[in-house]
Amino acid sequence: MSTEKLVYIETFGCQMNERDSEIMEQLLRQVDYLPTRELSRADLVVVNTCSIRAKAEQKVYSLLGRLKKIKDGKPGLIITVAGCVAQQEGERLPARMPQVDIVVGTQNIYRLPSLIKEVEAKRCSRVAVDLSPSFVIPRHLPSPPGAVVASASEKRPFKKFVTIMQGCNNFCTYCVVPHTRGREVSRDMDDILSEIQDLAGQGIKEVTLLGQNVNSYGKTSDTAGGRFPELLRKVAEIDGIQRIRFTTSHPKDLSDELMRCFVEVDKLCPSFHLPVQSGSNRVLKMMNRRYTIESYLDKVEALRKMLPEISLTTDIIVGFPGETDEDFSATMELLEQVRYHGAFSFKYSDRPLAKSTDFADKVPEDVKSARLARLQDRQDQINLELHQQHVGSCLTVMVEGRSSKTSRGQWSGRTDTNHVVNFTAEGLQAGQMVKIRIEEACLHSLRGSLAD
Ligand code: SF4
Repeated sequence: MSTEKLVYIETFGCQMNERDSEIMEQLLRQVDYLPTRELSRADLVVVNTCSIRAKAEQKVYSLLGRLKKIKDGKPGLIITVAGCVAQQEGERLPARMPQVDIVVGTQNIYRLPSLIKEVEAKRCSRVAVDLSPSFVIPRHLPSPPGAVVASASEKRPFKKFVTIMQGCNNFCTYCVVPHTRGREVSRDMDDILSEIQDLAGQGIKEVTLLGQNVNSYGKTSDTAGGRFPELLRKVAEIDGIQRIRFTTSHPKDLSDELMRCFVEVDKLCPSFHLPVQSGSNRVLKMMNRRYTIESYLDKVEALRKMLPEISLTTDIIVGFPGETDEDFSATMELLEQVRYHGAFSFKYSDRPLAKSTDFADKVPEDVKSARLARLQDRQDQINLELHQQHVGSCLTVMVEGRSSKTSRGQWSGRTDTNHVVNFTAEGLQAGQMVKIRIEEACLHSLRGSLAD
């Protein structure tokens, strides 16, 4: 008789969390849990949480409330909370929500199989949230094998995230990451390359290198091979890998050498996420970002001089404590200067452990909402204007999958500049490169048809 059980994993937040969920999914196979997308069938639920904004954390608590009701009717269900809320709350979580069996912090996910075994055997609760300054990322991080596994990762079997570092030393005043993911630790370069070689062997064509601040890869740990530009060059030597992306970067650590990689490493995609957060030097200082808007714009100009087609995206926070109308105008002015291809923009919210929570001069909620709406409206117009420039051109697109469940001929893919392109065609496969003639520009995507 099979002893296999089912695990349902719900992931909130960033790509780091998505990758951690993949790792947990694979680790749980060691203790006979197979993934399911049907919550009602699960014997184990893992909620991988995000605490970067108040809204993300509220979603976690609302799911935990729903899980309590399910557990009332199925007492054997094991509920695990992982990620940043787990790290932040620790022992407080099961005390406040007794339906939670396991709390596992960001550096402790690798212990999940043994924690599950303990809980199964003793029906106790377990909390593992220690953050160690000498933490080392394990050498071999498991990946679901490409297209074979029926799991969340099946959506993009030709693309994978690869963790290259974890944690952060920057202490931006609004951010919880240094407290929830610990200090910056880089992974050994040979381990990263060997993981990517394995992925290439499984048919993976695109990798995204992940870390909270990839530009400082190798700064505080011995990576046995150098810094981030060297890593990019070595990844590009791996046969089978066609596209390389990375995220996230801190503008203060963006070196000339890394900028040159965009020109010299042909597999490195010409799309760059460079979070600015605010257009005001006064606000940047309060945020402890450690660059000025002038130095940021100099880097943007240098990048565009080297590679005019590079697409730039950013993160912006509106309504940081003390942000005046003049500060916000400076951010609006920045949108005009840079003309980003996309901006992830949010209202500032106080977070436990973040320094800015104690700052005075909080911006009223209605002012934050009005500023955010203005900024998003203008950014939408810029998106559309930039998209319209592509109409009539032919772009190379990596096919990602069908864009519609109901209509068989509808496909979706991405350009190397990370534009989403929807198109009509027959007989394609995910991972294939095709030329698409662009016929229409939409707000968040382009539309076209097969050019040849
Ligand atoms: S660089 Fe700043 S915003 Fe980014 S993870 Fe580190 S502390 Fe947070």
